Amino acid sequence: MAAVIILGGGIGGVVAANVLSKTLDKKHRIVLVDRKDSHVYQSSYPLTIVNKRNPKNITRRLDILQKKGIEFIQAEVKSINPEQCNVQTDKGIIDYDFLIVSPGVEHHPETVPGFKDGAYNVYNFDDVSRLQNTLKEFKKGKIVFFISSVPYTYPPAPYEITFLLDAYFRERGIRENVELSVITPEPSPEALGRPAVQKRLRDLLKQRQIGLTTEAKVLSLDTSTNTLHLDQGITAEADLFLGVPSHWGPGVMENTGLVTEGNWIEVDPHTMQTKNEQIYAIGDATALRLPVMRVWAPKAGIFAHYQSEVVARNIASKIMGKKPSFRFTAKGA
Ligand SMILES: Cc1cc2nc3c(=O)[nH]c(=O)nc-3n(C[C@H](O)[C@H](O)[C@H](O)COP(=O)(O)OP(=O)(O)OC[C@H]3O[C@@H](n4cnc5c(N)ncnc54)[C@H](O)[C@@H]3O)c2cc1C
Repeated sequence: MAAVIILGGGIGGVVAANVLSKTLDKKHRIVLVDRKDSHVYQSSYPLTIVNKRNPKNITRRLDILQKKGIEFIQAEVKSINPEQCNVQTDKGIIDYDFLIVSPGVEHHPETVPGFKDGAYNVYNFDDVSRLQNTLKEFKKGKIVFFISSVPYTYPPAPYEITFLLDAYFRERGIRENVELSVITPEPSPEALGRPAVQKRLRDLLKQRQIGLTTEAKVLSLDTSTNTLHLDQGITAEADLFLGVPSHWGPGVMENTGLVTEGNWIEVDPHTMQTKNEQIYAIGDATALRLPVMRVWAPKAGIFAHYQSEVVARNIASKIMGKKPSFRFTAKGA
């Protein structure tokens, strides 16, 4: 009997668990560990912000996986010990034959002093739910959307949210009372996209009267004056601040010897195997370059999904004594 442990019940972890449960004989153990009791579908945050989704409907309890023979343990993973082939959690040690790591990113709003008290983190479920209510009461004023640093998950999301805000205020007939702008450290919106896409996005922002500041480093948010401070002495005042916090690689991987600078997990781009042949990593936590283009892969659920299928099928092949032959080819790019 083999044990496959999956760290993380986000897109990567849930897809991997489902594929394994369909592929592996029931005698094998599949365990999914997450600190939370529910999976949250982050791709629905933009629609939730503008009141087109109910926060309750974008989450699913992870214990329903147990119906498929997948064990769910709600626990905090404290460390991974490749030498001992085990994972230390706050509820005890779990041994593995194969480990799939999909812990996503860590958010660090504190890198911009004032963020936590003065801005909504649009990448956080609780803040997104609160923001939905705040916006219902918002009738007039200035909204500034800022990106703290790169890399960040799903680069189109800030623009998707801003365009949805534009439509939301139009629908309510109050768009002319609301000023919208985006501040980003990137040289352009969708900096990884083709030049034609970047230009189209800039044109659309202009058409929709959404301000854009690029190559801006956000330093701090002064909550007493509602002022965002950028480098070169630039400031931006607003009535409401929405922010994307700094993203770091998962701290739980720090001492595993499997990470690059910033705790991003190094993997083979085709198999998602780390330097340790029993440990695979998928999704936002990986330091992955796209196989053909060689640029850093954007952090996106669609990649996490296809990577999980490859990893789960290859692990199942290994357990069944077959040659692992599945490869990630950046499907979704
Ligand atoms: C606003 C927004 C819009 C998006 N829109 C899209 C879109 O339209 N299309 C698209 O493809 N992608 C989109 N994405 C990106 C997508 O949601 C992510 O790429 C995807 O969720 C990454 O999956 P993951 O499994 O790597 O990590 P996650 O889904 O973040 O899951 C990680 C899980 O690991 C758990 N965890 C972490 N550390 C520990 C620990 N130490 N112990 C226990 N549990 C732990 C967390 O609780 C979490 O449940 C969007 C993201 C955002 C924020």
